[in-house]
Amino acid sequence: MSPELPASRITSDEGTISASHAVDESSTRALAVEVRGLHKSYDGVQAVDGIDFVIRQGEIFALLGPNGAGKTTTVEILEGYRSRDSGEVRVLGCDPRHQRSLLKSRIGIVLQSTGVDPYLTVHETVTMYAGLYHHPRPVDEVIDLVGLGAKRGERVIRLSGGQRRRVDMALALAGDPELLFLDEPTTGFDPSARREAWDAVKNLASLGKTVLLTTHYMDEAQYLADRVAVMAGGRMVAEGPPSTLGSRDLATVRVRFRPPAGALLPVGFSGGAGPDGFVEVAVEDAVSDLYRLLHWAVEEGVPLEGLEVKRPSLEDVYLSLTGSAEEGANLTRPVRRAAGGKGAG
Ligand code: ATP
Repeated sequence: MSPELPASRITSDEGTISASHAVDESSTRALAVEVRGLHKSYDGVQAVDGIDFVIRQGEIFALLGPNGAGKTTTVEILEGYRSRDSGEVRVLGCDPRHQRSLLKSRIGIVLQSTGVDPYLTVHETVTMYAGLYHHPRPVDEVIDLVGLGAKRGERVIRLSGGQRRRVDMALALAGDPELLFLDEPTTGFDPSARREAWDAVKNLASLGKTVLLTTHYMDEAQYLADRVAVMAGGRMVAEGPPSTLGSRDLATVRVRFRPPAGALLPVGFSGGAGPDGFVEVAVEDAVSDLYRLLHWAVEEGVPLEGLEVKRPSLEDVYLSLTGSAEEGANLTRPVRRAAGGKGAG
């Protein structure tokens, strides 16, 4: 089933993506998606402006960005539904522009809404779709995978919105694809339906499927994705594992506490308290600065009421990145790549 793709370069009848562009030579995991210098414009609007990224087999990769960032254009180019102006794209070793028919049975696409016959049962619906493929995944297995085992005999019309979305996911899985595109999989869900859908996505990852997810929810990206890429204005403004995205300046640790009124605080913490009496400062070296603060507090017998050590959430990082990208009409800043992550460097 899984194609044997070389780790750092992919060759096809279209040519070879040059080794000089190769990233992450150290990884042995094959690439499911490889994008280099991708450009696409519509009537003078530069929707995608020279982006590069790779997705390794078995990864869950989330593409984030504000409205109009270029996410849909990028994903549709990968799916083979849109042509590109320039750049190199390989999806499972194929060029989606010229080899879409080869790719069709190897990728699954979950759009924001799939039209299915609402009077068929879940089992009938998935069986019908499975019949379109040469090597479908067993229907009951697919239904269990998306967490609809208890609803297999239920008509689609009687399912909740979240359950219907999982039917959509089951349909995309019917052909047992290697790579799954999920477009905003939980938009409009209540919190418990979101959790269930997340479990379904995690199940896919446990089968070794590769998932490219677009989402507007930071917590979704944080929970599901091995790596996150943030697009703004057609460019990639950040890429890395959610926990380390925006390292350095954006990942500055902040320390917050309420000292007793009039306490003479150590150097670096004496910026003044807010109206609620709390002092909040960004620290450069979390370990040694916290040590200084705690050592001082113990020595002086000073309570540090409500002491908190905070890292910015993915949402803080996202807002900071996309905000600054939108401020600059011409973003020339390089992509911020964060280290680490599941099998990636
Ligand atoms: P959203 O989150 O709102 O779906 P997006 O990140 O998916 O946004 P795209 O849909 O890729 O963004 O759009 C990127 C830019 O390209 C936008 O400025 C959009 O107006 C423009 N665009 C997209 N499709 C077309 C089209 N068919 N014709 C003209 N302009 C388009």
